[in-house]
Amino acid sequence: MSLRYRAVRGMRDLASEAAAELRRVEDQCIAAARAFGYEEIRLPLVESTDLFSRGIGEATDIVAKEMYVFDDRRGNSLALRPEGTAGCVRACIQQGLLHNRTQRLWYAGPMFRYERPQQGRYRQFDQFGAEIFGVGGPEADAELIQMVAAIWDGLGLRDAVRLEINALGSSASRAAYGEALVAYLAPYEDELDGDSRQRLRLNPLRILDSKVESTRRILEEAPNLADYLDASERAQFDTLRELLDSLGLLYRVNRRLVRGFDYYTHAVVEWVAEGIGSQDAVCAGGRYDGLIELFGGRPTPAAGFALGIDRVALLLREVADASAEASAACSAGALSYSAADVHVVMQDRKYMPAAMAAAQALRVRVPGLRVRMDAGGGGLSAQFRRADRSGACWAMIVGEDEIAQNRVSLKWLRANRPQVTASMDEVAAAIRESQAQD
Ligand code: ATP
Ligand code: MG
Repeated sequence: MSLRYRAVRGMRDLASEAAAELRRVEDQCIAAARAFGYEEIRLPLVESTDLFSRGIGEATDIVAKEMYVFDDRRGNSLALRPEGTAGCVRACIQQGLLHNRTQRLWYAGPMFRYERPQQGRYRQFDQFGAEIFGVGGPEADAELIQMVAAIWDGLGLRDAVRLEINALGSSASRAAYGEALVAYLAPYEDELDGDSRQRLRLNPLRILDSKVESTRRILEEAPNLADYLDASERAQFDTLRELLDSLGLLYRVNRRLVRGFDYYTHAVVEWVAEGIGSQDAVCAGGRYDGLIELFGGRPTPAAGFALGIDRVALLLREVADASAEASAACSAGALSYSAADVHVVMQDRKYMPAAMAAAQALRVRVPGLRVRMDAGGGGLSAQFRRADRSGACWAMIVGEDEIAQNRVSLKWLRANRPQVTASMDEVAAAIRESQAQD
C-alpha cells in the first residue's frame, strides 16, 4: 500500500508503549521538580525569530542551521522554539515574575531543530527544563544538579550516567580566552575541519567541543580556559565543587566542556550516558547571568538545565534490556509494558452495565489503578485470552452469581494464587496489598 501521507522526516508518531516510556520520564522529572519547590510555566511553541537569534547567538548551530523559521501572514518572522530558556526568560520579564523575588520554574514539551535525524536525534523532541532566577551563588547550580540526580534515582539510572562540569567564567574572561584560542589556532587553520574553521571566526569556543580526531589533536596543546578565570570566578567554582562533594554528587571537571549557546557563563554542566550510541548527552545546562539583562530585564542571576526526554527513554530501555528480570514485575511502574492492570471480563454481554459499574467502583477505590473493559465480544475463554495478551495482572469477572451476591471475582493472571470472590472493598484491598508487595 502506498501511503498518501507520512509524518515529516525526523518527527515521530509515538503510540502506546513508546508514549508510555516518554510519559514515565516526564512524570519523574515533574515529581522531582515539585519536590524541590519548582512551579510549572507553560510557554508558547512559537516566538519571534529575533528572540532566539539574540538570546542563543547568531553564530550558534542552532540559530544558523537548525531553526524552523517562517513568516506569518503579516510577514513577521517567527520560529518554532529550538529550546526553552529564551522563551522562559522572555515570559518572566513580560509577566513581571522576577521583581524582588526568586523564581523557580519548570516546563516540558516539544522542541524543534532541523538536524540530521538518527537514533537519539530528531527534528521534534521533548525536553524537560528547570530554571532558577535570582540566586547568584553556587547553591543554585548545586540544587539543579541535585534535582537531576533525584530524577536519575527515581528512574533507577544513577549508575548509567555521569556528570561533567566546567567553569566558563564571566563573558569578559570568556572573551579573553576566545582571543587566546584564536591566536593559538590561527597557524593550524588549514588543518582544522570545515566546521571548526568557520567557528574560528564566528564562535571559537565551540571548537573545543569538536568530535573530529585531527582537530582534537591540535587542541591538546591549546590554552586552558581555567587559566583565564579571575580569582572570584575560581572561588565560585571551588565552592560549587565543595557543595557537590559534601552532597556526595560525583562529577568530573571537563575543561573542554562548552555549550551550544552563547548565553552561558560560569558553571556549565552536562550529563552523559553510556550505551545509547553517539548521541549520549542526556541533560545539559548551566548559569546564564547575562541573559535577562540582554532581553531588557533588570540584571538577574539565573541558572537552569534541559533534559532530553527521548534520550533518557532510550537509556531506560537499554538498562531494562540489560536487567532481564523485568518481565516478572507486575505493577504499573514496572519496566515491562502493559496497557492495564485489570482486565474486566463478563460472563455474558448482557452484564455489561454491571461490569462497567464494577470497573468504575474499582477505579475509585484504587487511585492510579488502570482498569480496562474487555472489548471484542465472545465467550469467557476469548475474553481471558485477551486479558492474558493485555499484560494485565488481574482479570475481574462479573457474572450472574457475582451480581446476585453483590460481589465480583478476581483472578490473578501472572501469579499462582487462587481466584477470590468477594465484595468490591475486599477485592480493592487485595489489589492494594499485592501492589504494596511489588
Ligand atoms: P547535542 O550536542 O547532542 O546536539 P545539544 O548541546 O544541542 O546536544 P542542548 O541544546 O543542551 O543539547 O539540549 C539539552 C538536551 O536535549 C541534550 O542533552 C539532549 O539530551 C537533548 N537534545 C538536544 N537535541 C536533541 C535532538 N535533536 N533530539 C533529541 N534530543 C535532543
Ligand atoms: Mg545540538
